[in-house]
Amino acid sequence: MSTRSYDVVVAGAGTGGSFAAARLAGAGLDVAILERKNEQQAGHIACGDALKGADAFPDSIPRDRLETAITNPGVDHGRFEIPQEDTVLEIPVPGELAVVDRWKYGKVIIDGALDAGAEIHYDTLVQDVVQDNGRVRGLRATTDGEPVTYEAEMVIDAAGSLSIVQESADLEHSHFDTNVTFQQFCSAYREIVEVPEPVPWDDALVFKPTARAAGYLWYFPRTDRIINAGLGFQMTEEPMTMVDTLRDDLNQRAEFKGAKVINKLGAALPTRRPYDSAVAPGFMAVGDAAGHVNPTTGGGMAGAAYAADYAAQVAIDAIEQDDFSEAALWEYNERVMDHFGGRYAALDVYNIMSTAVDVDELMSLLASLPGEKLADALYSGSTNIGWGLKLKTAIRTLGHWGTIYGLMRTKKLADRLLEHYERYPSDPAAFTAWQQDRDELMDEIYQAIGATPKY
Ligand SMILES: Cc1cc2nc3c(=O)[nH]c(=O)nc-3n(C[C@H](O)[C@H](O)[C@H](O)COP(=O)(O)OP(=O)(O)OC[C@H]3O[C@@H](n4cnc5c(N)ncnc54)[C@H](O)[C@@H]3O)c2cc1C
Repeated sequence: MSTRSYDVVVAGAGTGGSFAAARLAGAGLDVAILERKNEQQAGHIACGDALKGADAFPDSIPRDRLETAITNPGVDHGRFEIPQEDTVLEIPVPGELAVVDRWKYGKVIIDGALDAGAEIHYDTLVQDVVQDNGRVRGLRATTDGEPVTYEAEMVIDAAGSLSIVQESADLEHSHFDTNVTFQQFCSAYREIVEVPEPVPWDDALVFKPTARAAGYLWYFPRTDRIINAGLGFQMTEEPMTMVDTLRDDLNQRAEFKGAKVINKLGAALPTRRPYDSAVAPGFMAVGDAAGHVNPTTGGGMAGAAYAADYAAQVAIDAIEQDDFSEAALWEYNERVMDHFGGRYAALDVYNIMSTAVDVDELMSLLASLPGEKLADALYSGSTNIGWGLKLKTAIRTLGHWGTIYGLMRTKKLADRLLEHYERYPSDPAAFTAWQQDRDELMDEIYQAIGATPKY
């Protein structure tokens, strides 16, 4: 068994691992990324390829590098197909939106980390952590079948939604969130499909609810002839045969006549609230490994990139100050909750609601609302969901007022939850009380919505 030593060891070379390593290496630290895939396959990750807000991604990987992976910068709205109502809603999406060649994006960010000075060890499967008196001190892995111990001052777990790193670590002596079950995840599958003729909706992300299992199908145009077609469902629901469901929908769509499938991939993603705490002595988790996914859209690249950057900055300070305690790393939790964690936790309330309401009724309501009103409702400040609807809209929504009332109540509860996350403690000593209050609020939410507790 050989042993290697670094300042920081990062498990996984996805978005989280690459952005974390780029920031750390850019600050002059010795960083190794351990990636189980080989050099050719690294970066090939199941994804819908929709990249939101890349213009504001951390600058540790230069923006012009990311641009080389963008294949469709022209998408600017969501196109929601509601077959039950024979309706299509076009809803503008604010901020920068693009569709990428995900494999190329994966390569580009790995190159960004390498250029910053990080090392990457391919074919290296992380299997265990090195721990000493509760502090994580490194990772044990096999490289090309040979066991190697990677010692480090800090370990960052960026090994994705099915990371085994946390399973191997003893995190009981910290506040690290271990309340994680597969029912809080979504199972998703996608195909890259080449169509013979350009699709007419190459400026939109197309969404469509599946007939059952609280899921949705998507069609995201990489170009007007290369489409990322996929679907997912929350794992609280009865399993769905995803390949067949996708095939049935593709067969019904005229645009896909004569289409050729060029790639297939599936994975799980954490459509849940972010971990309450993702730090333990010498250890931080980022991206999917810490639930940093928008639970309503499944978008996780942005959360992984931001969280990785915050974790790296906190790790740099910890190394400078030679303090790797939970309290020293706590600022990472605060920055995540402040930037997007609180918002994702509040959005999760709608996810929970979607498992408890009649989806047909909800679709029927959405179909009766004008797209621009819905856009206002979706993007306006936390309490103003635009329900001061004008008389015309009120008449259109006649028959759905019970559902509207339910949505308004859900919105109010989500707002209260968001306010609670704005009070996320700045000291681990205040964490248990904050968590207890949050759990009481969640109990109120489950009861009001009539949903089975998710956590
Ligand atoms: C089907 C699907 C569609 C999606 N669509 C979108 C979308 O359109 N837009 C969006 O923003 N997000 C989307 N997501 C979510 C997004 O892909 C993830 O949130 C994002 O990739 C998370 O990045 P990450 O770095 O945390 O993890 P990952 O990208 O999963 O990277 C983890 C890395 O760790 C490696 N690894 C895992 N275990 C080990 C181990 N034991 N040892 C060594 N290496 C290991 C993996 O090989 C991988 O390279 C989708 C997810 C799925 C499954």
